[in-house]
Amino acid sequence: MTVRKELLNNIRIVDPYVPGEQPRQKVVKLNTNENPYPPAPEVKAVFDELKEDEFRLYPDPTSGKLIKALADQLKVGEDQIFVGVGSDDVLSLCFLTFFNSEKPILFPDITYSFYQVWANLYRIPYVCPKLDGKFRIVKEDYYKVNGGIIFPNPNAPTAIYEEVDFIEDILRHNRDNIVIIDEAYVDFAGKSAISLIDRYDNLIVTQTFSKSRSMAGMRIGYAVSNPELIRCLNDVKYSFNSYTMSCAAISCGAAALENTEYFKTNISKIVQTRENVKEQLRDLGFECTDSKANFLFVTHPRYDALKLFEELKEAGIYVRHWNDPKIKDYLRITIGTDEEMKIFLDFLKKKIGA
Ligand code: PMP
Repeated sequence: MTVRKELLNNIRIVDPYVPGEQPRQKVVKLNTNENPYPPAPEVKAVFDELKEDEFRLYPDPTSGKLIKALADQLKVGEDQIFVGVGSDDVLSLCFLTFFNSEKPILFPDITYSFYQVWANLYRIPYVCPKLDGKFRIVKEDYYKVNGGIIFPNPNAPTAIYEEVDFIEDILRHNRDNIVIIDEAYVDFAGKSAISLIDRYDNLIVTQTFSKSRSMAGMRIGYAVSNPELIRCLNDVKYSFNSYTMSCAAISCGAAALENTEYFKTNISKIVQTRENVKEQLRDLGFECTDSKANFLFVTHPRYDALKLFEELKEAGIYVRHWNDPKIKDYLRITIGTDEEMKIFLDFLKKKIGA
């Protein structure tokens, strides 16, 4: 049966975000920027000790334990943190809460593709300034009239990180607009813009447990800002769903923050592998951006990216490719373990090095 036009007229029809594949068979999985190492041992220990009540009862709607652990870690007030079901949930609520101007919001033309999806979903007008020839954000493009600004730092999928001064310039030119910095990958890169929170009331920084804390499956993300903007986010959240965070996510998230040593070691292993792989790919003739994330963004002057993507997949090695004409010559490769990267590089050496 086809649905009649009269009905379709009043339905919200959207082009959804397309997530990377989650194959169930065993593959070398370098396609969705997960962390190849397990979470801190405290996480599994807490998970195994979850009480029956933590299944039977609703969770704490304020996620108090997790908020307190984050506030201690980040040295901000508990009223400066908002938590959600991954940073996707947090960012989506930020779009709904903060981008209500008639003026267009700004985000780069090459960036996290979910921004465009949320803008369309919530009917927020937007303009996408172009990156420069080296995939860098041109900060002056963000000095014009706008209804808000959002970009990731490091940007995705380019993996390029901008220093905090760069963010501060944009904040200074946008005193009356909300600026959201999506720091999903910042732990692999450098300093966080959270250091600017107390000086700029227009700044919101989001981060996630999915990448640097190896907890993508648990779905934990958060925003840091001033108490007033956090209150606005909470009011929208409570108008949507009071119980977003499960008991397991609240307890495991708090546990993950206990072990700083493990966190730092995990990150330095990934950074070291990233730098090694970058060098080996360059030896094979690939051009790589100066990645500061847990993934690489690469192109080869003599090999078609889509073809390479398909051949890799055929060999059980999953990476990411987009058909967008602006980046169709590029592949995005998540940094896995040294063993996984060796399988990936051996495949390329056979193909290209020969
Ligand atoms: N921002 C960026 C730039 C991302 O690449 C991702 C991961 N797809 C997210 C946010 C969302 O991550 P999560 O919802 O797992 O926190």
